[in-house]
Amino acid sequence: PMVSAMEVIESQQVDYDQIGGLDEQIKEIIESVEYPLTKPESFARIGISAPKGILLAGPPGTGKTLLAKAVAHRTDASFIRVVGSELVQKYIGEGAKLVREVFEMARKKAPSIVFIDELDAIAAKRLNDTNGADREVQRTLMQLLAEMDGFDERGDVRIIAATNRSDVLDPAILRPGRFDRVITVPMPDVESRENILQIHTRNMAVSDNIDFKKLANLTEGASGADLSAIAMEAGMLAVRNDKGSVETDDFLKAVDKVMNSGNESIEIQP
Ligand code: ATP
Repeated sequence: PMVSAMEVIESQQVDYDQIGGLDEQIKEIIESVEYPLTKPESFARIGISAPKGILLAGPPGTGKTLLAKAVAHRTDASFIRVVGSELVQKYIGEGAKLVREVFEMARKKAPSIVFIDELDAIAAKRLNDTNGADREVQRTLMQLLAEMDGFDERGDVRIIAATNRSDVLDPAILRPGRFDRVITVPMPDVESRENILQIHTRNMAVSDNIDFKKLANLTEGASGADLSAIAMEAGMLAVRNDKGSVETDDFLKAVDKVMNSGNESIEIQP
């Protein structure tokens, strides 16, 4: 099952300019992941070691995976992605072995970035009842800690994890030498939403009278993923109606649809 449990991408296409509203987070990831890979001699000269593991913490769809992919692209590193819940649910009894294989692969493909999505699924605080499923999670976590403790921070394998439940993490995972750098990735504010909408319409034929500020104001509570869906949906409407470019009413309908998906649709006045 190894092949499907981890996704290995030799070269990433995402760049920092495709990430909206996370300038501070990009700066932190450059310092903690990019520099250790691109200028290890500076760290050696000054005599500090880079953080071993970086934890990206924040709500779903806010750009955590994008950040990890962009830094892999910048450093020409292989990008190896595993999903915590899949490690322990999809391949029962194989979690620890898979973790071992992921790190083997990372060393083989170095420089590489191991990206562990949904870290909380394998690193939640110890539960009291130790049923079979919990023991499986425990073994998987132990293997991850062993791998992290065992490898050299001066090497060219970097580990980035993501979670939207940092509150449930076992403190053992956050100790120095493990995920000792936490970067918080928040929901986008109004300015960031405008920025993200612009990024996602950059390659679209968009009418020049689109008021992105207004669209940003109408999308309070939308994540980056929601905004990406809005841009796509607006484009689809323009295609469906055979338009030459995407117009304001396409965006308003798209906002209405995406912001109210699951709820009853309400009409937004232009
Ligand atoms: P999850 O916790 O659900 O894995 P995530 O934080 O890793 O979410 P991403 O996978 O990075 O989210 O984002 C999903 C998609 O949403 C991206 O591919 C991108 O299209 C869009 N997106 C999310 N955040 C941003 C952002 N800050 N700037 C631009 N696009 C974004």
